[in-house]
Amino acid sequence: MDTVYATRGGCVARDRGPAYDAAPPTAARVVAALTAGADALAGFDPQVCSDEELGAVLLAAEAAQRRIAAHQATTIRAFDQRDAARHDACVTTAGWLRLHTTMGPGAAKKRVKRAYLLQAMTHLRAAYEEGAVATEQVDAIVYRAIPSRAAAIAEHDDTLAQLARNAEPREVAVAVTRIIDTVDRDGTDNPPPCANDDLRGIDTFGGYAGLSSVRGSTTTLLNELLARTFRVFDTPDPADTPVAQRRGATQRRHDALQAALATALDHHPGATIDGVKTHASLFVDLRTMLGDDDLATIRPRLGETGVIDAETARHIIATTNPTLRLVLGLGPWLPITVSRTRRVLPQWLRGASQLAHQHCVGPGCDVKFSRCEADHREPHCNSGATALFNDNPLCPPHNQLKHDEQWTLTFDVDTGVTTWTSADATRVIRVPPAEP
Ligand SMILES: [Zn+2]
Repeated sequence: MDTVYATRGGCVARDRGPAYDAAPPTAARVVAALTAGADALAGFDPQVCSDEELGAVLLAAEAAQRRIAAHQATTIRAFDQRDAARHDACVTTAGWLRLHTTMGPGAAKKRVKRAYLLQAMTHLRAAYEEGAVATEQVDAIVYRAIPSRAAAIAEHDDTLAQLARNAEPREVAVAVTRIIDTVDRDGTDNPPPCANDDLRGIDTFGGYAGLSSVRGSTTTLLNELLARTFRVFDTPDPADTPVAQRRGATQRRHDALQAALATALDHHPGATIDGVKTHASLFVDLRTMLGDDDLATIRPRLGETGVIDAETARHIIATTNPTLRLVLGLGPWLPITVSRTRRVLPQWLRGASQLAHQHCVGPGCDVKFSRCEADHREPHCNSGATALFNDNPLCPPHNQLKHDEQWTLTFDVDTGVTTWTSADATRVIRVPPAEP
């Protein structure tokens, strides 16, 4: 058994043990050894050993996880640098990871970002490869290493690596934040407000029961505009509103902001489809509208938000203003077509395609529909119709890859699955529809 001993920062497997073979392993042997390691742990019965042995196995598993993750980062970087994702019609390594695993987009991108950070921070990488540093400590740095700060953070490689060996992730995070402060605030203790403008940002997060949370840092100007907006668009409750139904201050601010955004969209040409102003687009199965949720073949979705539940869809239809654009479907892929009368999707059909597809149909890709190009699956010059069932929304890199490498795309109107087949037909990649 490997000798394992713990430090405060982590556990380190020092001896490689009898299974280690000095010969450089082939890819097949690496795969077999990794699988064998997991199988050994799966077959291990904790009841048949002493407390000390059980602890040794636990620490060895932790050390192995760390070391594997560290070396996996080197593999990810090599994979990314040789553009190997294109083999499976993916345009990024993160997309390729998503195609082959159930990883979310954030986790996949973090794997790639971690791989490149570790290339720049050799001391940290060495500690991680030893198993002396956990993934959580490394990610405390990765999370904060946006491009404009990465070089400054990497300069403190040795210090951060030492700290990560002995401190918890939050202590590492505090140290990184101090480094960032010197970069972002120009080294002064009390910077003028405008110097902090590049810290501005707004995020929305999915929340409880269909509600979302908004969090962010506003600049002085946006703060002023928000205050003004709340004042201008605030409408008091009618005098006869029962006390129990009167809105609180935060609810009134929410409603004022909603009214201001609707007004802004009213005056923006991009919010008009076929001359009709639309603030929100909703796609629902006809059966959902009728209340037969079990018979519906697709869950309702909002154009930008994505899938929502049936009750929320009916609530929105019942309560929203007339600027809601509603597309009814008998299933998700009901063929809607203008046949061959036009080569370019008319706006109303593009709207329907957006509601159906949400994003690029490239493998592992989540580029939003609004940034995609409409591509005829069956080319227009080969009698392909301009139709929902013949439209591939593809991000520009995927559109390029499809044409450069002659991938053929087919579409199953029953399931919404897009199938990519390579020119020599040796590779077939199936891309499921966006959250059916
Ligand atoms: Zn794409």
